[in-house]
Amino acid sequence: MSEIKNVVVIGLSYSGVSTANELAKKLPAGYRVLAIERNEYAFNPVPALRAAVVPGWEDKVMIKTDKLFPANSAHKTLVGATVTKIDQNSVILDREVELDGKATSSIPFSYLAVATGSVGHFPIRVPDYQGPEDAKKAFQKLQGEVKDSKKLLIIGGGPVGFEFAGEVTEYYNGSKGKDKKEITLVNATPRLLHIDVKDGVHRKALSALQKSGVNVILGHFVNDIDPTHNGALGKTQTFTLDDGKTVEADFVLIGIGSKANSSLVVESFGQDAIETPTQQIKVRNTLQLESQDNIFAVGDCNNVKENKQAAWTGKQATAAADNIVALITNSTLKEYGPQSTIIMVASYGTKDAAGQLPFGFGVPSWLGTRLKSKGLFADKFAESFNTTLI
Ligand SMILES: Cc1cc2nc3c(=O)[nH]c(=O)nc-3n(C[C@H](O)[C@H](O)[C@H](O)COP(=O)(O)OP(=O)(O)OC[C@H]3O[C@@H](n4cnc5c(N)ncnc54)[C@H](O)[C@@H]3O)c2cc1C
Repeated sequence: MSEIKNVVVIGLSYSGVSTANELAKKLPAGYRVLAIERNEYAFNPVPALRAAVVPGWEDKVMIKTDKLFPANSAHKTLVGATVTKIDQNSVILDREVELDGKATSSIPFSYLAVATGSVGHFPIRVPDYQGPEDAKKAFQKLQGEVKDSKKLLIIGGGPVGFEFAGEVTEYYNGSKGKDKKEITLVNATPRLLHIDVKDGVHRKALSALQKSGVNVILGHFVNDIDPTHNGALGKTQTFTLDDGKTVEADFVLIGIGSKANSSLVVESFGQDAIETPTQQIKVRNTLQLESQDNIFAVGDCNNVKENKQAAWTGKQATAAADNIVALITNSTLKEYGPQSTIIMVASYGTKDAAGQLPFGFGVPSWLGTRLKSKGLFADKFAESFNTTLI
């Protein structure tokens, strides 16, 4: 009997799990999926800002991966191992894992899907933690820091800054018996959520912030942002804006600066494999890497021209999985059609939202609440791993 061939997926968040699920459904006999994740769990970034503020939500950002494939399946997840290098036909891990009864740190592959996502500041991405208990403690520590702060500075009025303001104002300023927070949000462009949203969408977001007492400064930026200034500062500090005005804060949330996580591809194939300044991995319209026929990149990490969102990762995963099967079966590869218009929902606490629907329509609060704000896709993410929340 010939040896089973591996289709390796690197990263198990929205893109990786969708790709692994699609491949498991579609791969012909003789092939199996090996899905590798650096954390010991799958991390869901969407509820992370609520988990930074509201006690209990830290349990909803991490999902166990052991039920992704049935116990008797050929497909496997390998978690708590980071891929450090992609060689011609194998990936190298930072530690040994148990595979087919042997300990190994080199996994051969016939096809590979890179789903390494974005790098961002905690809490919207987690650094390499030892395990879920450490990550839980980090969220609980941050909740404590928010609780103890009096003056919060939010840098960036994109979805991250907007959603964090919504969580803090609802949990603290909207509840009796809790210390009220003074919040300032500074956004470099004159438009909230996204530079290209319709005016009405921007105005709805601005009105939600102002109604809940947030001091919004648009069209200006904070000088000398220090990425280590994320979270409690330990004392009240003065921040200077480009126009010389100042803002005092004892807590900072940096809601800007997310970039594609492509260092592994640079390490393996050189600087030419990525775009600058986005750091996104260059892919053909089939989602194959420009220089590698048997390697694909999906989701936040690639340079497909669409707003980087979990919503499109399923479509990309399907395209990549179909094209891997097409390569195996010597069929014609299909081109991926990017989602070029802006469609987005940004939550504002559990009961409000702003955002843009197809044809530029704004997201009504009731619809945004139902679609996103209440549950922040925590259940849906768990379902994609065939499990439920704790
Ligand atoms: C606050 C917030 C709210 C959001 N709301 C929405 C929304 O409402 N709708 C929407 O569509 N999108 C939303 N997004 C965007 C969405 O979270 C991302 O688009 C999505 O997470 C991208 O998924 P991904 O799998 O490509 O990347 P990521 O989520 O970044 O996952 C990458 C995975 O790869 C792993 N990894 C990286 N490198 C390695 C390696 N070398 N070896 C092994 N594993 C590795 C990481 O640990 C991680 O698990 C939101 C994001 C944030 C932060």
